[in-house]
Amino acid sequence: MMPFRSHAKVCPAGRRAGLFGAGRLLFCLWLAQEIGAAQTAVSFSSQVLAPAYRADRILIQPKPGASLAVLASFHSSLKSEVLQTFEGIGGLQVLRVPEGETVQSLIARYQQSGLVEFAEPDYTGRVFATPDDPKYLDGTLWGLNNAGQKGGTADADIDAPEAWDVLTSASNIVVAVLDTGVRYTHEDLAANMWVNPTDGSHGTNALAGSNDPSDDSGHGTMIAGILGAVGNNGKGVVGVAWGVQIMACKCFDNFGRGDVSAAVACLDYARVNGARIINASWGFTNSLALSNAFYTVRNAGIIVVAAAGNSSADIDVTPTYPASYDFDNVISVAYTTRNDALGTNSNFGATSVDLAAPGEQIYSTFGATDTFYFSNTGSSFAAPYVTGALALMLAKYPAESYQQIIARVLNATDPLPSLAGKCVTGGRLNLRKALSPPINLAALSSAGGGPFQLRVSADPGRTCVIEVATYLTNWSRTFTNTTSANGTFDFTDDTSVGSAQRFYRAVSSP
Ligand code: CA
Ligand code: CA
Repeated sequence: MMPFRSHAKVCPAGRRAGLFGAGRLLFCLWLAQEIGAAQTAVSFSSQVLAPAYRADRILIQPKPGASLAVLASFHSSLKSEVLQTFEGIGGLQVLRVPEGETVQSLIARYQQSGLVEFAEPDYTGRVFATPDDPKYLDGTLWGLNNAGQKGGTADADIDAPEAWDVLTSASNIVVAVLDTGVRYTHEDLAANMWVNPTDGSHGTNALAGSNDPSDDSGHGTMIAGILGAVGNNGKGVVGVAWGVQIMACKCFDNFGRGDVSAAVACLDYARVNGARIINASWGFTNSLALSNAFYTVRNAGIIVVAAAGNSSADIDVTPTYPASYDFDNVISVAYTTRNDALGTNSNFGATSVDLAAPGEQIYSTFGATDTFYFSNTGSSFAAPYVTGALALMLAKYPAESYQQIIARVLNATDPLPSLAGKCVTGGRLNLRKALSPPINLAALSSAGGGPFQLRVSADPGRTCVIEVATYLTNWSRTFTNTTSANGTFDFTDDTSVGSAQRFYRAVSSP
């Protein structure tokens, strides 16, 4: 056996054509996620390339003056079926790929026939999921997409537009906002409010002992808009999740003051009424009752997203709760600026805080009127970024446990120098990475001159395609499989023996 040297597992940007395996086969692998940063002749993104073309159709255009009868008999000889003809577009024809042919081989036959102007694949495109909400389009919502506007740093954001190409809504997921209430009639929230099937309310008011969680402060309404303002409705802002069910649980008054008994009542309401995530943009000193209530929520499999607080404090030393609870369902969130710095007064904690999210000058729905919006800064407004992201993750991976969902989010942050040693992950939320993990391709082994063996690693149940090319162009799909429960599948290229050099890559299947 001739093992690859360890550095041959991936082909680093700029050097990816320089690796050699056994049998004089030039061999090249890379992380799909790295492709966009390639410095060589290729700079493809797996997401862009993945849905390349339909496997069952090609398009041809007859040469001007070519005999249609001759072309028709050529079709017959190949068993190509003409599905559609566009007389007004130069006689363009859509052909069905016959049994036993591939798109590439069929295209080659037509190109060699001399009968066609061109023959090409039926490429696949997609509608870009860009919402029409004006404050997203004008760049106000920098935490979702930062192009460097207003002195920000490009890409100091959660990569929301890229994530939205995967998934925009979590309409079946109930998220409880435990806060000052929510203005549930707001133009950009009303459609995303959870409705209690028993009384038609949108939650609970533990201070008043009623089912009217109106917001007399504005804080809770901001939280609700950041995680789940209605997307693509032409109004205001857009939440991390365009659609979600927001359950409003009021346990803080218009001065932002609350007590443990009210918080406990809201935790209980959220648990009993089916919330999957609880957003807690607030903190207490410890209380046994509060700790027990959060532990009960944990046992119900509910995720808690807790703001770390805004005292410039190390909460490993000076704890605040729920952020400092060492429960596996509690995610604590510090806040970052539009330059990916840690917020000036953001709390932190190498073991108590899990990650950071955008929290500076965050613009969102506000409680004053049904059309009011407002901007504010703090970890309170970072936590709902994570909550919205988790809602989408729960929608994307319905069979997974809350621990698996949390692990996905924490494993997908963007590491930042400003966060090193300040939180567990040392990173800021990246929703694109969480929703669409990278595909890794590695060499397993190759006997001298024997067939190449590859291992694809991704998330479980991901359908991936291995493509091969002689040069770094004209990739052909050779193998498609779905990763097993451990996130991998193996592939042996029996045709590699004695062949010319070849390159491999793995991409997501559409
Ligand atoms: Ca970005
Ligand atoms: Ca909107």
